Amino acid sequence: MKSRKRKANGLYEHPCAYCHGWVQCKVKEREAIRVTKADYVILENVPIGICDTCNARYYHASVLTRAEKVHEKGRRKVQVPVGPYDEAG
Ligand SMILES: [Zn+2]
Repeated sequence: MKSRKRKANGLYEHPCAYCHGWVQCKVKEREAIRVTKADYVILENVPIGICDTCNARYYHASVLTRAEKVHEKGRRKVQVPVGPYDEAG
């Protein structure tokens, strides 16, 4: 199966779902990835797919899994505001 002229690009080797373009793999230094309706995590040096025509972004399942793990880990950090009891004012 070597009918396609363009060479495979790793995780992303498919035509765009939104247009007739082709999805290119790009390694982003930092990419915000949505993991829930309200939450994003930033992944570093993450390979994402970007359509060369309409710039639609694609995230591979392994990227999303990684993002969810980072999100899960982050949630375990308890962040409670701390202040002195007898502060004036
Ligand atoms: Zn496209």
